[in-house]
Amino acid sequence: MKKIGITTTVPIEVLYAAGYQVVDLNNLFIVSKEYEKYIEFAERDGFPKSMCAWIKGIYGACILNEIHEVVAVVEGDCSNTKALGEILSTHGIMLHPFSYPTAHTIEEVKKSLDEFMVHFEVSYEQVEEERQKLMTVRKLAKEIDRRTYEQNQVTGFENHILQLCMSDFDGNDTAYEAMLQNKLEEIKVRQPLKEQVRLAYIGVPPMTGDLFEFVEKQQCRIVYNEVQREFAFPKSEHQTNIYEQYYDYTYPYDVHTRLKEIKKQIELRQIDGIIHYTQAFCHRALNHLVFQKELELPIIQIEGDKLNKLDARTKLRLEAFVDMIRDLKDAKK
Ligand code: SF4
Repeated sequence: MKKIGITTTVPIEVLYAAGYQVVDLNNLFIVSKEYEKYIEFAERDGFPKSMCAWIKGIYGACILNEIHEVVAVVEGDCSNTKALGEILSTHGIMLHPFSYPTAHTIEEVKKSLDEFMVHFEVSYEQVEEERQKLMTVRKLAKEIDRRTYEQNQVTGFENHILQLCMSDFDGNDTAYEAMLQNKLEEIKVRQPLKEQVRLAYIGVPPMTGDLFEFVEKQQCRIVYNEVQREFAFPKSEHQTNIYEQYYDYTYPYDVHTRLKEIKKQIELRQIDGIIHYTQAFCHRALNHLVFQKELELPIIQIEGDKLNKLDARTKLRLEAFVDMIRDLKDAKK
């Protein structure tokens, strides 16, 4: 089966209909034990130090894993992806453009998806068929997410990683569905986890995967992973077609679209505080100004760069943040 790399979540149903195996280059990069070699490779090729580590990692993962075709999201995801695509094309990599439209309307989303389908020479019916096939795996991920905040049986890291990998189903949707089914059976018989503080994680997925374990050691648990949940498309069973599904996907659109969903989930999941992760040299860091103003809960912004572990200063800040929330909760009692 021919492989295609993606730099962020894109309408995978179109790529499946066109007969591709889809590989999320972000996951290929970050789950590698040698993730640093991808960054170093990019820097040796001339990528500046002052550039987001995800972009460098994606570049390294793409070239070193010999991915020959890539979907480049030229609008709605990352301000660096267009330039990255241009560099990849100099290596002979075939680029397939996709845009999340600036105007967040169903008409514009439909136009963009229709262009994507024409580009890959697939019909709407073929795409819908793929969408229906993915419904089971999406429902399983949704149930695991629900058991994170309702039954309290799932750790923050499990919630993070199981939804994150929904962007490409870890390279094989059938195997991923079977894995999620087994995982769910195991989760169902667990005793509920008990924590003093319930946290939300918002922002791009972290470079620092140890964040979840670290907060759990402070008697806290992350019960909402904003962007990872979006990657899993939890509302797809209620959407009547592919256009609605990608219209309701909040991450690539404006910050206010994201904010609306974040507020809803904060209330539903009884969140006490928010961790906003931003990546060094990422334009999305500016979103913090809006979140800080609009979200009526304690919020901390932490930044990651190239390390895949939390640094000592961030750990200290997180400890102080959690203590402050605990004190606030005690004072309210
Ligand atoms: S973290 Fe920001 S700059 Fe880096 S790839 Fe993601 S959107 Fe782009």
